[in-house]
Amino acid sequence: MNQEASSNSDTSFFGHPAGLTTLFFTEMWERMSYYGMRALLVLYMSASLQEGGLFFTVAAATAIYGLYTGSVYFMGLPGGWLSDRMFGGQKAVFYGGVIIMIGHIILAVPSNGTFFIGLIFVVLGTGLLKPNIAALVGELYSETDKRRDAGFALYYMGINIGSVLGNIICGWLQVNAGWHWAFGAAAVGMAIGLIQYKRTEPKLKGIGSQPTEPLSPAGRRKTWAAIGAFLAALAIITGLTYNGTIVIDPVKLAQYVAIFFAVVFVIYYSRIYFWGNLTSNEKQRLQALLLICVASICFWSGFEQAGSSMNLFALDFTDRMIGTFEIPTIWFQSANSIFIIALSPFFAALWINIGKRFVSPVFGIKAAIGLIIMASGFLVMFFAAQYAASGLKVAPYWLITTYFLHTVGELCLSPVALSAVSRLSPRRFLGQMMGVFTLTYSIGNIISGLLAGNFDPNNVEQLPSLYMQILVFGVGIGAVVLLIGLYTRKLENLPADDDKFEEKAA
Ligand code: GLN
Repeated sequence: MNQEASSNSDTSFFGHPAGLTTLFFTEMWERMSYYGMRALLVLYMSASLQEGGLFFTVAAATAIYGLYTGSVYFMGLPGGWLSDRMFGGQKAVFYGGVIIMIGHIILAVPSNGTFFIGLIFVVLGTGLLKPNIAALVGELYSETDKRRDAGFALYYMGINIGSVLGNIICGWLQVNAGWHWAFGAAAVGMAIGLIQYKRTEPKLKGIGSQPTEPLSPAGRRKTWAAIGAFLAALAIITGLTYNGTIVIDPVKLAQYVAIFFAVVFVIYYSRIYFWGNLTSNEKQRLQALLLICVASICFWSGFEQAGSSMNLFALDFTDRMIGTFEIPTIWFQSANSIFIIALSPFFAALWINIGKRFVSPVFGIKAAIGLIIMASGFLVMFFAAQYAASGLKVAPYWLITTYFLHTVGELCLSPVALSAVSRLSPRRFLGQMMGVFTLTYSIGNIISGLLAGNFDPNNVEQLPSLYMQILVFGVGIGAVVLLIGLYTRKLENLPADDDKFEEKAA
């Protein structure tokens, strides 16, 4: 309580609690390392051996890419669980960061053989760090603090500054020094983030210093044994894959994994909902949150075309010449982050104003609007693809306009959804709920990959229909979410009942 009162009155970081500086910069550096490496991943895997790459087929490289990004967010589930029960958010973030850094150091070693081991480390570390750092941001604000959405908008800006830095630094190093120097830069970025985190940890004023649902000593022993068994199994499978005993078909695996993620999401959400010993208010708040999760899955399945079909559209069907200068294809990838950085302050102010005018946080409605705006970007792509189908190359502003709409949609949905998870989840399940929520990223990323599988540069006639499908799907689901959101708005405002639970537990 005291903690909440003090953080409430703390306005030292652009009107937000000082702890937000710590989390903002840690996540910024973590994302610098993540996006810097991610931008090179497919290129590295598909580059020839002479170019220092792994010489995989494009199909295998994109499937591995989808599996990697999906698994990174999937591991948020155990990461959130371990934070709630074993470590507390603060330690989980630190350990996660250390594991990520080790992963990038392994990738920096100039040997192709260690590549997958490095990736596995990054996946495990991100699972521990990503949901828990977002949960800590939420804990900076009290239940009634109107700055929460704005705080997440600011935090989101940190994510995207990191992403731009990663693209520029790692992209430059790759061209001028080589792949492994670029991977090494990601390790250095994470190291800076960790040093900064440790130095400014006191600003968090003890939030997340303890697990919210601590296990008994026997439970801790069992969990350590389970972690050991999991890591041993992982090591054995990796070893057998390396020596050729197990042969993995990445495309098939990606399809099964998509179904697996969706099933896990349903089971996990139901488990907390039905067997989490929740009060009636808590259950109704989780109903409101489920709507936002559905919106989030649909949102990312459309949005993530950026790295796949829209990236190829930039390459094959966009006239990238300005006079004698050719815009590099990869530059289109930064449009989203640059728009986020430019628009975030505006959205942070907008949410504060809306928060002041209306009592309700209206998470569901904002998410629905975000989904509809993102989907409307595909109307632009539909027309652009029609021009392309008629044999013309289109001007760059078609893609830029789409990225602009996608960014506006993202700012209505993504930081708002994080804020909603932090506010609507029972506090004792916060880490896990952030983990469940990051699973919506995994599912969205994989569905997006499956959708993008329809992109065939040699059969451009079917491209408008791909974009039309995404448009109809996004606007349709967005409209349904909007209608349901008008109802769940009431549920979003039910009291949290955390105190009641604490009394009951005592
Ligand atoms: N850009 C956001 C982040 O890195 C969202 C990522 C995603 O794919 N959902 O946190």
